[in-house]
Parts: sequence; C-alpha cells; structure tokens
Amino acid sequence: MSVKIRNVYIDYNATTPLRPEVKAAMVEYMEIFGNASSMHGSGRAAHAGVEQARKAVASLIGAGDKDGKIIFTSGGSESNNTVFQTMRLLAKDNNRNEIIISDIEHPCVLNSAANLKNEGFSVKVLPVDEYGKIKMDELKTVLGDKTLFVSVMAANNEIGTVQDIKEITAMVKNAGAFMHTDAVQAAGKIPLNVNDIGADYVTLSAHKIYGPKGVGALYVKKDAPLFPLIHGGHQEDGLRAGTYNSTGIMGFGKAAQIAAGEIEKYGRDISHLRDKLRGGLLEKIPNIKINGHPKDVLPNTLNVSFPGAEGESILLSMDMQGIEASTGSACASGSLEPSHVLMATGLGPELAHGSIRFSLGWGITEEDIDYIIETVPPIIARLRAMSTLPS
Ligand SMILES: *Cc1c(COP(=O)(O)O)cnc(C)c1O
Repeated sequence: MSVKIRNVYIDYNATTPLRPEVKAAMVEYMEIFGNASSMHGSGRAAHAGVEQARKAVASLIGAGDKDGKIIFTSGGSESNNTVFQTMRLLAKDNNRNEIIISDIEHPCVLNSAANLKNEGFSVKVLPVDEYGKIKMDELKTVLGDKTLFVSVMAANNEIGTVQDIKEITAMVKNAGAFMHTDAVQAAGKIPLNVNDIGADYVTLSAHKIYGPKGVGALYVKKDAPLFPLIHGGHQEDGLRAGTYNSTGIMGFGKAAQIAAGEIEKYGRDISHLRDKLRGGLLEKIPNIKINGHPKDVLPNTLNVSFPGAEGESILLSMDMQGIEASTGSACASGSLEPSHVLMATGLGPELAHGSIRFSLGWGITEEDIDYIIETVPPIIARLRAMSTLPS
C-alpha cells in the first residue's frame, strides 16, 4: 500500500473549517465579553455585534426587516425542532393534525416527525423520483384541509438534489398550511431569497458555511406563529431563552457576509472542480453510477455508487491515503442501515451500501482532485477483486 502523501478533506457537507477571516473576527469578538442583554456599555457592545450578525444572516437569504425575523439558535437541529414544537402546540386549537415531510429529510426532521406521530399526528411522507426530486403530483394528492404544515428541505445533504421550493411553497400556502424548509445545505451555495420562495420558516446553520459549530438560525416570516423550545429569559423576544452565544453568533454573521459576497464565484469554481472529479472517476472506473439530479444539484456535491465495493471499506481505504469523504450523512454513519436517501431514490441496499459522498469546498484544489482521481480507481479495483458482491 502506498504511503499517505496528501490530506484531502472532501466532506464539506458534514462540516466546514472556519474561514480564516471568520476565525480572526471571532478571536477579536471574544474580547467583547459582555452579556448582550446587559444595559451597560459592555453589554451594549455585545448586543451591537449580535444585531450586526442578524443583519448579515438575514441578508444572505434576502430577508428584510419588515417581512420576517431571524432567531438565533444552537444550530440547524434546534431550528428544525423549534418549528415542529410550534406546530405541535398550534395543533391544540386547530382542526388540522396532518404533517407532510419528504422521504429524504435530515434525521432531525425525520425524528421530529416521528415524535409527533407518537403523539397522534398523522404523518405523510412524500416519495421522491430517481433523482431525489419530490413528486409534485403526490404532494397535490396529499395536501388537504387537514394539512397543518409541510417540511421539505431546500437541498439534500447526501445527494445534493435541489427542490423546487418556490413551487412547493405555493401549493402548500394554497392549501392553507404552513411551509418550512431546511435550507442548511442550500444557504451560501445557491442563491436563496425567502421573499421569492414565500416559506414561513427557513432553517440555517453556521458550521456548514465556514462558520462556528453550535450556532444556527431560524427565519420566521411575519405573522407566522412561533413558540419557544427553550424557556427562560426574554432573549429573542422571548422566543429563544439563554444568554447569547455572542462570539458564535458574530462568527456566523461574518461567515454569512462572506458567503453572500461569493455565491456566484462559489457556484462557478466549486462546480468546475466537482465536474472534473465526476469526469475523472467516470473515465477511470468502469460501471459506476452518479446519484442525485443531473442539473438541479448543489455545486459542491457528488454522490457515486461503486457496485461490487462496500462503502465503509472504500471509506477506510481512502482515509488511509488521506482522502476524507463520507458514506452518507454524518449523523447516520456508525449505523449499518443503508442510506435512507439513496434507498428513497430507488437504489437497492447493495448499491446504497457501496456509495460515497464527495462534498467539496473552498479548501479543495485542482491537485487534490487529480490526487483523488489517481488514488480511488485502484482502491475500487482491489475491493471489487476481493468482493463476493456482483459488480
Ligand atoms: C447539518 C445539517 C443539519 C443539522 O444542523 P446542525 O447545526 O449540525 O444541528 C440539519 N439539516 C441539514 C440538511 C444538515 O445538513
């Protein structure tokens, strides 16, 4: 086995490193230690930073002051849970008790929905086509006067498929229901405008856009109800209690500001590298399958099935040569269940088990891509030769 000559982190959908500018800003902000809720000068300094970050995050998704608000949370998972909690409480004086999600949501949405199902809600799960797109005619069929809300992610973390959220939202609003979208993977990677989309709730997370871990946001449209998940002090208009994680929030703001300014360049540069990787793998490895939508896909995501090789083995072999990718969502790895997303697109368990997600980001170079294209084919050939699986 050859020695490790490079380290290529290519798992940016799991998390991203801090951008150097974000890190520098956070180190500076750490000096601003005041409690953002305090009245004195130190408190006001921290408060000003939090509010500046709020503007930057709002701006990333085109949210103006008047049409909605940004609530800071501990991350995408908390934002999603807050929406489900709100709907749970809302159902108490509402004759709607049906919720609709897609078959390929992140575990924090799937499990929030499962929790409501245990409490007696009716949960309908929308199927997707072979590319991971919601079946719109199916949505039309299941929407009705019992639908309380619909939660469909803007872009999928495993295969990168981008949904037609604007069209979905229009149908949902037409049925008199609330619309939530988990935009953790979409934000900062593709243009996103909440006013154009019209969704009531939009979930964001800092650590997927080169910001710190443990910070996220929930956009709430004007007049959409919201109930707190965490009760305590009056922070965030009483909607999310707890002393502000001001350093984290300010880092999120910086990351959002940078992402907003670079979104076109990101789309161009990162998709160029992704397409080069896809082309190289297709050329050098026989019989592989690219998963996800051919066109409506995040610029940074490439999910590939290698029939006849097992995903965990590919991952370990790549890791030994310094290539860090993933077999699916980080939250699902460690379980031996095949990816629910790939299964939903119609892949059998064997193909789903033999799939790798490469998710690119700003640290990836042309040389890194060359290295992967050179390193992965012999790994697949060796595993296929050892395998009893059909290839
Ligand atoms: C990472 C991720 C989350 C969870 O966000 P955290 O900030 O890690 O809680 C939710 N949804 C999607 C699509 C994600 O990729």
